[in-house]
Amino acid sequence: MKEDFEEITMYKCRYCEKVFYTNKRHKCKFNPLNKTCFSCTFCKGVTEEGVIECDQGNEISLEELSRQYHWKLDCHKWECMNGYIGKDSYIKRIYDNWRMEKIVEEENESDFFE
Ligand SMILES: [Zn+2]
Repeated sequence: MKEDFEEITMYKCRYCEKVFYTNKRHKCKFNPLNKTCFSCTFCKGVTEEGVIECDQGNEISLEELSRQYHWKLDCHKWECMNGYIGKDSYIKRIYDNWRMEKIVEEENESDFFE
């Protein structure tokens, strides 16, 4: 049974955690070297229309961003997120912001009834 299988090497991208047969081709949008919104401290999330919400007032859609050569945006206003480790921290940030907005909304609502 053991002989039916051959051991191979796989590569996991440390930024998006996808697994590949080679470590040569993947260009990761979460790699901070590309200076995209995905690793930027000013990115607050994505609207339902797919527009990135940027604290620096940049107007860029996910579609536009995906058209950048190898996801290399090289935004001059880019600043790396504090403690950035990859995709997880980006998703976490969107989630935290969303939760924060919910709390603020709830507080505003309770003010209304007082
Ligand atoms: Zn990746």
